[in-house]
Amino acid sequence: MLPHEHTVVMKFGGSSLADTDKIRKVARLVAARHVAGENIVVVVSAQGKTTDGLMKMAHEVSPNPSKRELDMLLTVGERSSMALLSMAIADLGHQAISLTGSQCGIITNDNHFNARIIDVKPVRILDELDKGHIVIVAGFQGMSYKKEITTLGRGGSDTTAVALAAALDARWCEIYSDVDGVYTADPRIVDPFHLVELSYDEMMEMAYRGAKVLNFHAVEFARRRQITVYARATDGGRETMVRRPALELGRAVLAVAGADRLVGLVTTDLAQTAELLAKLSAHHAEIQYLLSRPDGSGVLVLNPVTAPDWRAAVPGHDRVEPLFSVSVIGRSIGFENAMFNEALRLAADCAAEVFCVEANPSHLTFYCRGETGAALTAAFHRAFVTPR
Ligand code: ASP
Ligand code: MG
Repeated sequence: MLPHEHTVVMKFGGSSLADTDKIRKVARLVAARHVAGENIVVVVSAQGKTTDGLMKMAHEVSPNPSKRELDMLLTVGERSSMALLSMAIADLGHQAISLTGSQCGIITNDNHFNARIIDVKPVRILDELDKGHIVIVAGFQGMSYKKEITTLGRGGSDTTAVALAAALDARWCEIYSDVDGVYTADPRIVDPFHLVELSYDEMMEMAYRGAKVLNFHAVEFARRRQITVYARATDGGRETMVRRPALELGRAVLAVAGADRLVGLVTTDLAQTAELLAKLSAHHAEIQYLLSRPDGSGVLVLNPVTAPDWRAAVPGHDRVEPLFSVSVIGRSIGFENAMFNEALRLAADCAAEVFCVEANPSHLTFYCRGETGAALTAAFHRAFVTPR
């Protein structure tokens, strides 16, 4: 085995593996890097929309499937990708081996469907690298300390990749998808600017507010372990580097990000707010925002992606609002009066039904009802974002 400075973790998303031609293309890319003299660990996602398909089937057989069984089901997607890629690489004359998350020593807590990695013991990977093999790892999965199979939350293959990069002391982590890095907004909505470099904090804020290229927990992990992450397209082109920033001060607008399918729960008094919060926390639902008014009434905004069974936590609660959010992200921005006023005016122009607004130094977030997310994103991007 080459020394660990020569180890690189490459992660391929579902769109890069969507069909067998694409898998063979990835196999060629990986093989070329192996020939170039690197220890290669590849992390794969499930092909295309496989995970969504499996989720749909689960909900067809039961409206409220158990999260343990969901994990058993969903991990199948990544296992299928890893075996196919390993076969394709072998076909090119290279020695490759596929391994599940548990075989790689990825130990998690026992929060099924949204587990967190607590330890990585990559003994098996090191053994295989030592033999000169390319190691293919099923992303998005691990094993709890109770020896149960767990998954790491939607988009969790990124987290597997960064966690392995840290455990293997790799040079860096490369995350491949169908977009060539991170942009100042969703390219399906506006014509955004490409971002060449981002700090961990900036990328985390963008991911948390709905930007899709990198997973929030993966970036959090990268920050903690100071792993440089490159977001690249499988087809080449530009890239975005996420790493420790040079010290930057002063106000700067970075990007606009949005999330749909959020849920707002309206409460009438403090006791009800506290009760809902306790029940949702017990189901590990991530609360994005909590507002409590002096009259006791309040609003809880949660992202149901983190807890598909959130409704079971709050049976009978009838003040449920489907919401979307649009956030302006940057430094020292959320408290700026002129920007706040302008954002309110733009929201009125778009006829956005504003539910509540959250202002922070690092972001200004509008939570709204209805269908105006794209219009609001475009308006905010036009008004506030300039090339870096
Ligand atoms: N296949 C999983 C998902 O679709 C994990 C991933 O793609 O990172 O969420
Ligand atoms: Mg996926």
